[in-house]
Amino acid sequence: MLRSVGFAFLILLSQIGATMEERMEHGYYKYHPMTEITSWMQQIVREHPSLVSTEAYGKTFENRTISLLKIGERTSGVEKKAIWMDCGIHAREWIAPAFCQYFVREILQAYNKTDPKMREMMKNVDFYVTPVLNVDGYIYSWTDNTTRLWRKTRSPGPEDCVCFGDGGTDLNRNFDALWGTVGMSHNCCSLFYAGAGPLSEPESQAVTEFVGSRKADILCFLTIHNYGQMVLVPYGHPNIISPNHNELMEVGLAAADAIRGVHGTSYTVGISHDILYPHSGLSMDWARLVGIPFSFCLELRDKGQHGFELPEEQVRATCEEAYAGVLHIVRHVHDKIFCRSGAVAITATTTTLWTTLLVAAWVTGCTTAL
Ligand code: ZN
Ligand code: ZN
Repeated sequence: MLRSVGFAFLILLSQIGATMEERMEHGYYKYHPMTEITSWMQQIVREHPSLVSTEAYGKTFENRTISLLKIGERTSGVEKKAIWMDCGIHAREWIAPAFCQYFVREILQAYNKTDPKMREMMKNVDFYVTPVLNVDGYIYSWTDNTTRLWRKTRSPGPEDCVCFGDGGTDLNRNFDALWGTVGMSHNCCSLFYAGAGPLSEPESQAVTEFVGSRKADILCFLTIHNYGQMVLVPYGHPNIISPNHNELMEVGLAAADAIRGVHGTSYTVGISHDILYPHSGLSMDWARLVGIPFSFCLELRDKGQHGFELPEEQVRATCEEAYAGVLHIVRHVHDKIFCRSGAVAITATTTTLWTTLLVAAWVTGCTTAL
């Protein structure tokens, strides 16, 4: 009798142990290697089966899977809109994947705490979140001290490319947006090598295909980088300007205000050739060019003191403030489409772009924006 009770107790203990391990809290205020991010993604799907699913939408040069989390209510019969967010397009910008993980946790927590605005948004839109886009590069940047500052993909470049331990393409110069014109390099050894041609890399192809095939439904494209503390709006190329430039600036400035409100951190807002330098082949520009109305690139902390090697002690504050900024953007975008009060505030210059979106708009008892 005693023996069997003891045995049952042992089984119970081992079950508790397993459950605790499965539910072990993911550390959101530290950097994680790719294997941990992958298991975290699986864990999030397991914990929120009715809200979250994962989708593999491409392969890297080294044949690894590129996956995103799709987060939103499954409403049958209603075609939902979507918000895109990618992190980790540049390998060494570790704070970006950390932010994507934090963002996912925050929106799920808000939803589960029955935050009315988050509930409303998850009914109307799906969030497509790619925690690490440049998977090969990210894994390589975790190898050791000598690879920590790797930026590009892991494709070798042209056959005649001879760089010491180098190669790779800058994914954020490789998109089909005035490719190869300004702010990049045709030298395969450069940090800003644009690739052999537009979309020469499987990673930029994957994004182009996934986002491109849903471009009518994607309201907002967000791409997360560091460093510099900036909210960048299209375009990186000096010769073109978005038809809704003023609105993008307004939303960006309000996002910067929201960011400042959390820990007092100041972000600069603008087009990159004004506040940074001209660019071409950017994913943000491509998204705006194919008609996604809102497109932003966030450059998170800091302003150069630690640069890409932002200390882990700053992960939490960086994520907290960036979340406030992103939430502002997301709410603006959502309310514009789904709340009548927002939908009437459309200027003449953007009317054409918005026509298709307005047809799909309906009123859903919106929660007043804060
Ligand atoms: Zn970057
Ligand atoms: Zn805080």
